[in-house]
Amino acid sequence: MTETISSQTVTAKARRVNVRTPEVMARVQAQVESHYQSSLVERIRQSAGEMTIGSTTVRLARQFGFCYGVERAIDLAYAARKVFADKKLWLIGEIIHNPEVNRQLREMGVEFLPNPVPEETVRALGPDDVVIVPAFGAETRTMKHIEEQGCQVVDTTCGDVMSVWRRVREYAKTGFTSIIHGKAAHEETRATSSRATGADEAGHYLVILTLEDCDYVCSYIRTPGDKAAFLKKFGGAYSVGFDPDVHLRRVGVANQTTMLKSETEEMQRRIAQAVIDRDGPSAEVKNFVFFDTICGATQERQDALFDLLKQPPDLLLVVGGYNSSNTTHLVEIGEQQLPTFFIRDHERLKSITEIIHYDLHARAEKATYAEKLLSRDQVVVGITAGASCPNNLIEETIIRVFELRGISRERVLAV
Ligand code: SF4
Repeated sequence: MTETISSQTVTAKARRVNVRTPEVMARVQAQVESHYQSSLVERIRQSAGEMTIGSTTVRLARQFGFCYGVERAIDLAYAARKVFADKKLWLIGEIIHNPEVNRQLREMGVEFLPNPVPEETVRALGPDDVVIVPAFGAETRTMKHIEEQGCQVVDTTCGDVMSVWRRVREYAKTGFTSIIHGKAAHEETRATSSRATGADEAGHYLVILTLEDCDYVCSYIRTPGDKAAFLKKFGGAYSVGFDPDVHLRRVGVANQTTMLKSETEEMQRRIAQAVIDRDGPSAEVKNFVFFDTICGATQERQDALFDLLKQPPDLLLVVGGYNSSNTTHLVEIGEQQLPTFFIRDHERLKSITEIIHYDLHARAEKATYAEKLLSRDQVVVGITAGASCPNNLIEETIIRVFELRGISRERVLAV
């Protein structure tokens, strides 16, 4: 059924459409719950996050799974499908980084555009097309093209991402170059970078990923060196016309919302120190600025994992999409302390001894044969998930763990 949006008429400019009416949301909620919720997970949460049957214990992190930004993005995408039941619905890239959620949207007839979107692709759209902007946002250039085509826009960009945009725009306005801690190719960081040049596009940015990148930049801040080598090292991660000799004089630090908080803080400290070493103690106020832009949901999930690891389980399963940044950081935290397996879904748990999982370092799935993990007499399995992982995938993972230990699905669900 199609709801009409009577007060709105299509104009030459893109229209941002509010699809969140109470009547639509009531229908959306039921559908979203049926796709992603889990009563088993809720029951375990209410039992202090732990479930034991026989010699097998599953322990959940205090916080995991869908964050408010992801829930909102999914709600809006589902609402768009209901409101525009007869229209072509296009999604820029992926709504969030989870294959199951994107599969559901595909099944609902949402068409996927590549991200970044080539200009000619946008030029083929028109006022009858509805474009969904994902939770990570989209680049200013893409938004401009969509607006020029007069498309209708359902914008699911998370408010925490937009807070970062406000910061980097402010940096550009006040003559600071944004140093963005993030992955240069990640959708969110590309969207943020595109705002870091400011309204007049005269501002600059540099994206750095690792502490090693940070130290390289800090050395250059203290003593400018080989400019060509600098530009080569950070190729594709800085604004047009960026000159490290000029544009590292005044710097503001921002970050992709889903980075490791401890790493972002360390970068802020090192860059501030480099500016002080170059310009003297009073320079920090004049030539360096930062704001903490790690989102609350990412922080809560990282803190909850640190809590879980205070009493380390025998192994940790991290469930989620392999391209999910915040999930990746949970894996990194786990790996430092115990056997950790990054799995897309329960089917990766092949047998009591074989786990197929994503190796962050090799950037590929691999099989690990772990005879002494799941098959030991008593086992405690820790489970967590990133902000883009639905609870139904966690439920299936829990059931699979118990099944591998000889406990049936029926018995687990009956507990
Ligand atoms: S992880 Fe943070 S920034 Fe990303 S959608 Fe969730 S709340 Fe928003």
